[in-house]
Amino acid sequence: MEMLLNIIPINKWFKQLNSKPVIISGPCSAETEQQLLDTANAIKKIGKVQIFRAGIWKPRTRPVDFEGVGEKGLIWLKKVKEQTNLLTTVEVATPEHIEKCLKFGVDILWIGARTTSNPFSINEMTQALKGVDIPVMIKNPINPDINLWIGALERFNKIGIKKLAAIHRGFFPFELTSLRNIPKWEMPIELKSKFHNLPVICDPSHIAGNKKYIYEISQKALDLDMDGLMIETHINPAKALTDSKQQIKPEELKLLLDSLVIRTANPNNFNFINSIEKYREQIDSIDTQLIELLAQRMKIVEQIGVYKKNKDVTILQLSRWEKIINSRIKFGIKQGLSKNFIKRLMQLVHKESIQKQNDIMNN
Ligand code: PEP
Ligand code: MN
Repeated sequence: MEMLLNIIPINKWFKQLNSKPVIISGPCSAETEQQLLDTANAIKKIGKVQIFRAGIWKPRTRPVDFEGVGEKGLIWLKKVKEQTNLLTTVEVATPEHIEKCLKFGVDILWIGARTTSNPFSINEMTQALKGVDIPVMIKNPINPDINLWIGALERFNKIGIKKLAAIHRGFFPFELTSLRNIPKWEMPIELKSKFHNLPVICDPSHIAGNKKYIYEISQKALDLDMDGLMIETHINPAKALTDSKQQIKPEELKLLLDSLVIRTANPNNFNFINSIEKYREQIDSIDTQLIELLAQRMKIVEQIGVYKKNKDVTILQLSRWEKIINSRIKFGIKQGLSKNFIKRLMQLVHKESIQKQNDIMNN
């Protein structure tokens, strides 16, 4: 059962957030007062950042690593706010973190990926926020379970937090990949289509894990009509105590923000709409044909299933499947399609075919 979320759009949270995309930036961790103020002042000068982030309590995998400066960092953040007028945001994971952030006037809270995964922690934090009007941004859980993500949004919404956003920071990879966390773009898209007002922000820094991929991921997020970006910036990334490889300098942030192309999701140019409409009609018609063909294929699969059942033949004949997959990949490549795409498509079709024949044989 899905709850409807009652959401206040991000441009209504603060007057500073009235333009899209919202840019959140700042170091992975607050380390010293100087580091924080230098980073914040340099970021402010760019003129395109509205929210300053800093981790005060760091959720580290192992206790030998730097776990954050704690409460004193909140005093530094207050200074940042006074000097730059930037809004501030901090990661919270416990009711005590929330109390301290409220005490020191942090503007926006965010929930880290590890915490979103734990409904007990989320419930405890909602208790600390009863009757409080503060925006909360919720990172996706470590594992790609969209319901866990939605569940956290629902829990905060239920106790009255309406200024909610989701942050897509990617998912733990089970294989060696060039990215630190695998983006699953279908999830932020699904969130947006389920909850129209819900702002969705992308965190390209934690998806990338390395600064060289940040631009590409940021542009993709904007092209998918995400509402904002959270990018880690450090005055001296090489010396950073956490996430050193993925943090960029303020001047690199400026370059990046200046080169991002901001495209519109609501074109009002008549010629554009007219010509894209023609293409869309073609796509609609091709999709109809694709689905009709798939349905025809499945009918034949079912007939074969009946035949195999009568003759006591196994569903899978490995040599036949290998022939299918190899020939389709070859043909697909000839048509200009990627090997990976055809392979995955045929695997999906094959899985469904096996399922159909399995139903026939065993029911
Ligand atoms: C962070 O933003 O520094 C952080 C710890 O991120 P995540 O929760 O996405 O791992
Ligand atoms: Mn980080």
